[in-house]
Amino acid sequence: MTVEPVLSVRGLVKSYDGNRVLDGVDLDVGEHQVVVLIGPSGSGKSTLLRCVNLLEDLDDGRLLLDGDDISDPRHDAGKARRRMGIVFQAFNLFPHLSVLDNITLAPREVHGVPRKEATQRALDLLDRVGLSDKANSYPDRLSGGQQQRVAIARALAYEPRLLLLDEITSALDPELVGEVLALVRELAGQGGTILMATHEMGFARQVADQVVFLDHGAVVETGPPEQVLGDPRHERTRLFLRRVIDAGRI
Ligand code: ADP
Ligand code: MG
Repeated sequence: MTVEPVLSVRGLVKSYDGNRVLDGVDLDVGEHQVVVLIGPSGSGKSTLLRCVNLLEDLDDGRLLLDGDDISDPRHDAGKARRRMGIVFQAFNLFPHLSVLDNITLAPREVHGVPRKEATQRALDLLDRVGLSDKANSYPDRLSGGQQQRVAIARALAYEPRLLLLDEITSALDPELVGEVLALVRELAGQGGTILMATHEMGFARQVADQVVFLDHGAVVETGPPEQVLGDPRHERTRLFLRRVIDAGRI
């Protein structure tokens, strides 16, 4: 018996103004797997994550979430999106709302969850990301690392089948990167299913089940980290890794 992946991307094509940004991407994320997207700036990593989250219209291809074709226009995109959580590079917390309200806003306002229930759930989530004491703080009183942990808590609000993380440590001061990656590692250890773009190669090497190297909107190579990062088959992967090493990111 083969186990169905949580996410299957098939032949995904996305263009902006005639520029093919994703050029037929195929990708699977199995249950409890951490799949790490690497690739040069502009290779299409963010576009891929945004397409998976149905924040963009696809030009071609299919997205299957637990076998459901969520890219079918007849599928309710809002419902599909609720089965995923997404966190972006820049903190997207609402500055005028407390940490607690940031987390409970969508459940209460969009999904009609009663305040008491939403609050209890948010407090549990804050406990999970180690920020119980910050429930009533405003985002500008938190460090960048703490803000990203709140954003992760918010993304976990619906117990997502799939967590999408787009370079969530890139905007952080170096000393704050560790606490956010430690949280991702913990979520992975708890059986989370994660598709993430990152430049943190050390993290990818330790935590990824699979690394996908994307270049010019196409998957150049994919495999376990020790293979893709340690013994890449393709010249383009080697060149990219060399540049990353030269930049001191490995
Ligand atoms: P990455 O995340 O790997 O750096 P992106 O997915 O952000 O790459 O971008 C891939 C390409 O798509 C880039 O050339 C970028 O300029 C282009 N692009 C991304 N979003 C848009 C958009 N909304 N409109 C036009 N071009 C875009
Ligand atoms: Mg990006």
